[in-house]
Amino acid sequence: MSDFKKRMGMSSEDWNSLMKGKVDLCICRKCPTYRSAIEAGIAHYKRLGPPLEVSVHEKAIGIYFCYYDKSPRVHEDKGCICKTCPVTKQAKLVNNLYCMRGEETRQRGIVDPLAEILGQV
Ligand code: SF4
Ligand code: SF4
Repeated sequence: MSDFKKRMGMSSEDWNSLMKGKVDLCICRKCPTYRSAIEAGIAHYKRLGPPLEVSVHEKAIGIYFCYYDKSPRVHEDKGCICKTCPVTKQAKLVNNLYCMRGEETRQRGIVDPLAEILGQV
């Protein structure tokens, strides 16, 4: 287990299976902050045409900002419901507002050296 994952309090295998295997656990789509960002994106599209930038994981994986990083289209905090999400309990998360502040590891001050080298932080 890498130090990066060890400090998360669980093995990387457990973390990956928890986050990637269960796309239905994340409740961000029900959150006022995310819904507001979606509405702003739709309004932007109607006014100006081209859609705003969207993270790959928002489109393909089922959000999980706590694991994959923040969203380029969320700019206003309207409240966060992460504390009521089952992932918070199962993964022992201690932060929130991941869509704006970045993933759990980033908020804990843990930067994955490989991701940094690859320019993904
Ligand atoms: S803790 Fe928050 S970001 Fe993570 S899966 Fe749950 S709702 Fe989504
Ligand atoms: S990370 Fe928190 S604030 Fe952001 S969309 Fe998910 S539940 Fe809402």
